[in-house]
Amino acid sequence: MPHAVTHVLIAIILLDLIRDYVLKKKHRMKFPLHYLIIVGIAGLLPDIDIIVYWILNLTSGLTLTEIHRTFTHTLFFPAIFAIAGFATWKVKSKFLARHKMKLHTIFFIIAFGTFIHLVLDATLSGYIMPIYPIAIFKIGLDLVKLTPWPDTILPAIDAILLLAWLIHEEVKHKISDFI
Ligand SMILES: [Zn+2]
Repeated sequence: MPHAVTHVLIAIILLDLIRDYVLKKKHRMKFPLHYLIIVGIAGLLPDIDIIVYWILNLTSGLTLTEIHRTFTHTLFFPAIFAIAGFATWKVKSKFLARHKMKLHTIFFIIAFGTFIHLVLDATLSGYIMPIYPIAIFKIGLDLVKLTPWPDTILPAIDAILLLAWLIHEEVKHKISDFI
């Protein structure tokens, strides 16, 4: 499976690229960095089923494949957060407003991050069952296994992503000014 770091990094980088190149300037200026942290956590969130596996394995002996990549790795998972985003469209929170955030945007960002997780799992390694438990059809390109270096490609992806992002941030935002 893709590394935790890959999931976190790709979710953050994609949202950061949207911020830098898609959002209009007035929205970009108001974009709180908290959103990047939230999307990073959301990017890893579906793998929370591994913790569920640890607990259930101890109590009932269930195996990893019986739990991991089931409910939290379906399209329903991001859909729940997207629906929550629409449901809270008009909710105003003073606490969030103080941090320049909106509740519905947070839900949409979580929907985005968890969806990216599914895309990565379905393309890089193994498979997901997008509408489990309604049907057990699987989507999995397993691209990592198609490369000549299946054992080392995942850490290499992390390294390349991290370096490319750091260079991008330096060029675009001069992060070294803040260190
Ligand atoms: Zn996963």
